[in-house]
Amino acid sequence: MAEHTKCLIIGSGPAGYTAAIYASRAGLNPIMYQGPQPGGQLTITNDVENFPGYADGIQGPEMMQDLEKQARRFGTDVRYGMATSVDFNSSPKKVFVDDTHEIHAESVIIATGASAKWLGLPSEEKYNGRGVSACAVCDGFFFRNQEVAIVGGGDTAAEEATYLANLCSKVHMIVRRDELRASQIMQKRVTSNPKIQMHWNSQTEEILGDDNGVTGVRIKNHLNNIEAVLPVTGFFVAIGHKPNTDIFKEFLDMDEAGYIITEKGTSYTNIQGVFASGDAQDHIYRQAVTAAGTGCMAALDAERWLTEQED
Ligand code: NDP
Repeated sequence: MAEHTKCLIIGSGPAGYTAAIYASRAGLNPIMYQGPQPGGQLTITNDVENFPGYADGIQGPEMMQDLEKQARRFGTDVRYGMATSVDFNSSPKKVFVDDTHEIHAESVIIATGASAKWLGLPSEEKYNGRGVSACAVCDGFFFRNQEVAIVGGGDTAAEEATYLANLCSKVHMIVRRDELRASQIMQKRVTSNPKIQMHWNSQTEEILGDDNGVTGVRIKNHLNNIEAVLPVTGFFVAIGHKPNTDIFKEFLDMDEAGYIITEKGTSYTNIQGVFASGDAQDHIYRQAVTAAGTGCMAALDAERWLTEQED
């Protein structure tokens, strides 16, 4: 039998939990489904030093536990489970959780965030978890004093290369153009680090390995077609993120990358009663604090919208 709620929150990063705190304090008795990665992307980070209020920084997982505790304290019904499909043409909205449980929600707050992108090579998939990773901070530790490679040229790749250089004997940075996209300060940090070797104009052809995992990576300079095999045991992918919005595609307006389009300065989507927050709708800022801010907006918008429906 379908369950009814006034407010359903999908996702449990800073946006989802902030929406939950505001919605529960407004008496909406929200239900939250945490999704496949409870706590979101910050659970795979270590130090968060730029969230206002933590003068000495805080560990990402600890911050998410605090946010969950705060949301529960005001009565949010926080549940494990993943929204697998939706029907936003109906009123109330229908959301199916784990393909089985049906929820009828008067309002829906989307806070599903984004996930790391992969290169799409068969060998990348083959060795995923056995030397291939999209999170240096989570997995770098396993490659202490070993040689590793990281692909990407943005701030994430630069930050992770610097992090890995502190742990590993050598870091190869594979960059597809002849320049980095990363900010000036991060560019300087990687290019001046003696443990980081840059491979410009290079693409990853294949990740090599055996039964024990990764043993190397074959790269090709696409200007001169020269190939090289780097003798690494770890291969990190840091080429950006993709919003987790596939299940909403049929109903919500999105840009070409899949970010949900919201009405300027609000969390309103093109469907009445559906609000979007966090990285699912933000390809520019993507910070914990901006996600939290839009989560707050979504809860306030949902509350006001629900009140208008009652008038
Ligand atoms: P970006 O989209 O900024 O960068 C992605 C990088 O990966 C680019 O260099 C891109 O190359 C490269 N790339 C993309 N696809 C491929 C591919 N198939 N093969 C090889 N290389 C590829 O993503 P980030 O995750 O680095 O950053 C996202 C946002 O978060 C940015 O706005 C960034 O500034 C911000 N950020 C800020 C941090 C901070 O302030 N401390 C830390 C981390 C992120 P190309 O340049 O050629 O397109």
